[in-house]
Amino acid sequence: MSEHKVVLITGASSGIGEATTRKLAADGHQVFLGARRTERLEHLVQEIGYAGGSAAFRKLDVTDVADVQSFVEAARERFGRVDVVVNNAGVMPLSPLAALKIDEWNQMLDVNVRGVLNGIAAALPVMQSQGSGHFVNIASVGAYEVVPTAAVYCATKFAVRAISEGLRQESSGDVRVTVVSPGVTESELADSISDDKAREDMKAYRAVALPAAAIANAIAFAIDQPADVDVNEIIVRPAASAQ
Ligand code: NDP
Repeated sequence: MSEHKVVLITGASSGIGEATTRKLAADGHQVFLGARRTERLEHLVQEIGYAGGSAAFRKLDVTDVADVQSFVEAARERFGRVDVVVNNAGVMPLSPLAALKIDEWNQMLDVNVRGVLNGIAAALPVMQSQGSGHFVNIASVGAYEVVPTAAVYCATKFAVRAISEGLRQESSGDVRVTVVSPGVTESELADSISDDKAREDMKAYRAVALPAAAIANAIAFAIDQPADVDVNEIIVRPAASAQ
């Protein structure tokens, strides 16, 4: 049995974050959940409690650095320490650049990039003072290649990899950094696409999808390694998918 940890998960209200919450709680970790849809988090926490697990939640908007700091502080007050932060919250309103959906570009930059940076800013000092910690940052196969309509989304995921690699190089063994990059995975991610053609194209692209539990298992694997082992990158694709 692996060591039980205090794990903070952003974007825990659906998809990969929700599946990761269930997996880590079932493995005996103490989970602290954040997202904006608190009624979903409340149900999840209740369900974990009934099953004998340990979970709590706080409303969280990852684009607001003060809110992320309060989230991390609340977790520390509740569970005493912060062992792992899973920077998972993300949005993907795809469109061609020529559609000039500037608000959606900014939303992706705010959630997918600033959200991860805010998580690092809030939790890194805590981990350094503890002498240990672990960031699991969720990127994407879009962090390795660009496809039409996904320029800005891919840019945010390339950024997640770059930030994670920099953080890894600057950490002197006390803070571990893992990038988990999912291929197409069942979730609500594509629901926010407002561009008609991009939405239609995504139906075919997303026809073969992994269950979110497959990504949760990869995250659990990285977390459960001994303290002197840092799993840096994991890519998980559906076996039947070329992308
Ligand atoms: P979902 O849409 O199901 O989940 C996204 C989560 O992010 C939700 O819980 C949502 O919660 C949360 N979120 C969005 N904006 C904010 C915000 N401002 N503050 C806090 N939480 C926020 O999609 P996935 O589970 O698929 O996405 C999880 C991660 O996986 C993302 O980073 C995504 O880019 C990545 N990914 C997903 C792939 C897939 O095919 N599913 C493939 C590659 C990467 P709420 O709305 O309640 O705030």
